[in-house]
Amino acid sequence: MTFQCVHCGTVNPPHVKKRMSGAGWALFIVLLLFCIPLCWLPFVLDGCQENEYLCSGCGIKLG
Ligand SMILES: [Zn+2]
Repeated sequence: MTFQCVHCGTVNPPHVKKRMSGAGWALFIVLLLFCIPLCWLPFVLDGCQENEYLCSGCGIKLG
């Protein structure tokens, strides 16, 4: 499968950036309120992270 950016037409594979999902932030706030020693958990749990794809040519957000 080849990738091509619809914006700039580059065929270089996009950059993948990890970022916290909405559910991760919600869990973080709950832990912050009720269990502060564990509030770092959402930052390391895979289920609380989502991938963000950025074009390596123009930097536009993909998908
Ligand atoms: Zn692009």
